[in-house]
Amino acid sequence: MGRLIVVSNRLPFTLRQDGARFEFVASSGGLVTALGAYLERRKQAEPDFQYVWVGWPGSAVPESQQATIQQTALEKHGAYPVFLTADDTEDFYHGFPNRTLWPLFHYFPSHVDYDPRAFQNYVRVNQRFRRALLELIEPGDEIWIHDYQLLLLPGMLREAVPDATIGFFLHVPFPAHEIFRLMPNAWKRDLLSGMLGADLVGFHTHEYTQYFLNCVFRVLGHDHHLGQIAMQDQVRRADTFPIGIDFERFMSAASSDAVKARKNEILSGIRGRTAVFSVDRLDYTKGILNRLRGFEEFLMRYPEWREKVVFLLTVLPSRAEIAQYQTMKHEIDERVGQINGLFGTMEWVPIVYQYRSLEFETLSALYELSPVALITPLRDGMNLVAKEYLASKPDGTGVLILSEMAGAARELSEAILINPNHYAEIADALHQALTMEPEEQIRRNRPMQERLKAYDAQRWATHFLASLAKVKAKQGQLATKHLTPALQDDVIEHYRSARRALILLDYDGTLVPFAMQPNLAAPDNELSSLLMDLLQKPQNATFLISGRDRSVLDAWFPNPKLRMAAEHGASLRDLNGSWRLLQPVASHWKSRIRPILQMYVDRVAGSLLEEKDFALAWHYRRCEPELGAQRAKELIDEVTQFTANFDVQVLEGKMVVEIRNAGVNKGAAALRIIREVEPDFVLAIGDDQTDEELFRACPADAFTVRVGSPFSFAKFSLSDFREVRRFLRRLESAGHR
Ligand code: UDP
Repeated sequence: MGRLIVVSNRLPFTLRQDGARFEFVASSGGLVTALGAYLERRKQAEPDFQYVWVGWPGSAVPESQQATIQQTALEKHGAYPVFLTADDTEDFYHGFPNRTLWPLFHYFPSHVDYDPRAFQNYVRVNQRFRRALLELIEPGDEIWIHDYQLLLLPGMLREAVPDATIGFFLHVPFPAHEIFRLMPNAWKRDLLSGMLGADLVGFHTHEYTQYFLNCVFRVLGHDHHLGQIAMQDQVRRADTFPIGIDFERFMSAASSDAVKARKNEILSGIRGRTAVFSVDRLDYTKGILNRLRGFEEFLMRYPEWREKVVFLLTVLPSRAEIAQYQTMKHEIDERVGQINGLFGTMEWVPIVYQYRSLEFETLSALYELSPVALITPLRDGMNLVAKEYLASKPDGTGVLILSEMAGAARELSEAILINPNHYAEIADALHQALTMEPEEQIRRNRPMQERLKAYDAQRWATHFLASLAKVKAKQGQLATKHLTPALQDDVIEHYRSARRALILLDYDGTLVPFAMQPNLAAPDNELSSLLMDLLQKPQNATFLISGRDRSVLDAWFPNPKLRMAAEHGASLRDLNGSWRLLQPVASHWKSRIRPILQMYVDRVAGSLLEEKDFALAWHYRRCEPELGAQRAKELIDEVTQFTANFDVQVLEGKMVVEIRNAGVNKGAAALRIIREVEPDFVLAIGDDQTDEELFRACPADAFTVRVGSPFSFAKFSLSDFREVRRFLRRLESAGHR
């Protein structure tokens, strides 16, 4: 069994210099706690399990000491430090990740710095991580990379080790495309391709996953199927894994003596008044100022609570080097002073404010003793404090007021959810919380506690790693489908010994690339001569089986030796060049449907209507992709309802919706052709949904090939029309025995 290699910007400890020596000091934080607990427990349960944590150790280490420290870190802490120079870290930590990605991903575009130098530095630091990993990893290792500081690393690693198992998890929100697009185009592509270097990309909420998939589609053009992204040669996956907490640790801490003692101290400090608390890092995303405005509004609206409630506000120092953080700190200090000055009395200070980090016992005591938690981020990837609060309530009481902008709100829907931009809502929520009956508190909290207990940090990590293994297995299955040169040899062997070889070829997307307008996809010389050569062999029966109509096919392929099925098999061209219908078809429905399609052409810029003999098609290849896809869904819905009484079917192709007679499909046409030709070798190649019917109709021993996607009924896949042409050329030149 390989090792688990965890990679994050920071290691779970910090190296502190003590004279000439360095010492290892444990550091905390959501990721460290969640993963640390998982790694420890797994080590206990599986003695063979090995892991290494790779990351920056928090300070610059002279080169002469690096080797010794590396060895100690590995032996004593299962860690592999990535050494960065003082310049690297200064530019890095306060550079691209925290001045560009953090504000942009948290919907603060006005705070974003688009500095090309910072991006270069980001690339450089990601490369240092790549180098460190390449020194360390061995075949069989699983690599799990974390967070926004290392978005490029999965891609860099994939390039160096194509078959590595790589997972990536983003701990901050992934923004909607409208926000993501603000970034320069080249960065967007690099960041998304970097993330897609991982086999599995994980997010906290369904929305972040959807936004990511949407950006991948818009920026890189890769579509997805239920979160599976079909890349050129491989499938990747994006999915949702809301991070959990160490539930038992908080639950049991609540009843420990140390925590009880701390609790009593704090309670006597506030003279038994009702506590409302909040704890967060100093960050503009946390909505601390909004919260203070909301608390002020509460004291104005509900004067009966004055002197009865104390707001315990703890702000953890963070990123004080960045100007926006300093400004915010001053604003908080001032606001707290103003509120206390305005409302406070000799006996009562409304807000007890501290700017420092807390020990675990104090934090736990604070959770336990506070009847109300006021957690109001303007945007937060998850928010673990909200979860920890609920886990610290053995009797099930307590009221969580939570911003709907926190990822945690998706799982904690029984909390009082508020919009932090609305101070009155915060004020009213406080009043509601303070007057809520204990029975209702328990009724709301129990289901949330159950969920947090069931999906704790342990389950989160286990679930992610199990999904990673599944993606790998899926890739294994699909990899066997790629029609590699070795597999092509096998097909060619069969072809050479065939008496009668049937070759069924779709046209658009299979033999030629898609053009912006359907009439621009005429065959080029290379293709014409390839088809010509296939036709020369007397054993071959070569058919184009296309969605195109007869007139276009006649114009592009005048040689009657090339047999053809038009309009997905509505009619067939015989060797004398004449067309015959494969089954009786009606077209009276067209006059009823045409106005609907015309309305979509008028409404959706760039779309166009194609009139075929027995079908109507609405193309949206030139439209804005999202809008086109969305309107296509609407159109399908509308037409399907409208055509209930007609014998027609609605089909979704690549950037096209087609309405045609029921019963006409490439599968029916293929069966007919197979009956007529009686082949002992069948090769069918196609690229879209309509070709799936063709693959299904082929005999079990046929060689079926889907172009551009591994998700298919076909046995094999090829990447694009170029690969198809190369393969057909090999087949043609192999000749018969
Ligand atoms: N926390 C901490 N030190 C403290 C107080 C809290 O490390 O003095 C922890 C807290 O228990 C929680 C984490 O910091 O696990 C904060 O995570 P959250 O998701 O709420 O916010 P983030 O800081 O990650 O944005």
